[in-house]
Amino acid sequence: VPTIASPSTARELRPASLLKVLRAVHDSPVPPTRAMVTSQLRLGRGTAAVLVADLKERRLLAEADAGSRHRPGRPTAQLVPHPEGPLVLSAVVTHDGWTLDTVELGGGTVRGAAGRHDRRRGTRVLDAIAAACRQVVADLPGRVGAFALSLPATVRRGGVAQAALLGWADVDALAPFRWLDTPLGLVNDATAAGIGEARRGAARGHDVVLHLHADAGIGGTLLIGGVPVRDAQGAGGEFGHMPLAGGDRPCRCGAHGCWDLDVGNLALAGTDADADSAGRSVQRAAARVLTSAQAGDPAALARVSTVATKLGRGIGALVNAHDPELVTLSGGAAMIAALAPDPLRTAYLSALMLFRRSSPPPIRTSALDGDGQRLGTAEVAFDGMLTEALVR
Ligand SMILES: [Zn+2]
Repeated sequence: VPTIASPSTARELRPASLLKVLRAVHDSPVPPTRAMVTSQLRLGRGTAAVLVADLKERRLLAEADAGSRHRPGRPTAQLVPHPEGPLVLSAVVTHDGWTLDTVELGGGTVRGAAGRHDRRRGTRVLDAIAAACRQVVADLPGRVGAFALSLPATVRRGGVAQAALLGWADVDALAPFRWLDTPLGLVNDATAAGIGEARRGAARGHDVVLHLHADAGIGGTLLIGGVPVRDAQGAGGEFGHMPLAGGDRPCRCGAHGCWDLDVGNLALAGTDADADSAGRSVQRAAARVLTSAQAGDPAALARVSTVATKLGRGIGALVNAHDPELVTLSGGAAMIAALAPDPLRTAYLSALMLFRRSSPPPIRTSALDGDGQRLGTAEVAFDGMLTEALVR
């Protein structure tokens, strides 16, 4: 009779338990006390003490005095990242700039680098980021445990399939980072913003969430428990390239009638569909319309209201398709929703199927003040690092 091997001994279960404690500390919005983690994970007090001691020994966690009455090592001490503990690198490329954050457990940035880039120089921005990574690794040897990169591109099987905003096609965007010899992640910008919102922002604690993010164009992701839904190639969530608002003009992506043309920068700027939506003149014109609308300019407000109507209509269609409990918006989509909430809501409700209208999923704007993409990209890196390999 064959025996079934199961991880039943304390020794075999130890890595999984250590990982759960690390994950609980990392996910907490503020450094938790040992007592909080003990209760959240339903651990015995003795077990929690042993696990925390082990994590301190491994230089993954430290305990900090939470108040003058308490001494480190007490259950009331806060669990914080070890000062020599593991770090991740979180790189963000936008249509005209880049950032590289070095992030510790819990999501705090310990150092940052940033620069501009010129799309005419192709993928040279990746070399600039790789050079910044080399500097971090030289200064903090042995501590970088994972890397993730997000960019305004359709990501497929770990590479860039198409990036109209950057002028890239079929780029192995992780190639300049393989020397790191750590887990590497590549993620679309809107997906990263959604992950950030679900783990650290307005969607925290919700199960099924639709997130929409607009930079020069609009995209998004459907998240289940903070994790984007899987798809065949990793190229899903291109909501901006669906004819959600009834248009039929050709889009730079190759499709026709894309929602992006109705709600993105081109629509705000009021320019032709064949204009470059990431071009400086379009960016400036779109930003000007938003600023004027904020100042109460009637013509600008009328333009934003038209865009908000098409945004609301598309959100209604996506809610019909995906049945989320909450919709969150970031980037330009959040600004449009704040400037023209009524046209957006009217169009949203009218696009919903009748049975949904009595309790439509709420639409909330981002709680992360423009940092969702950076935070979400860091979370992709942490997902690569926070595995049992770290505590074996
Ligand atoms: Zn398109």
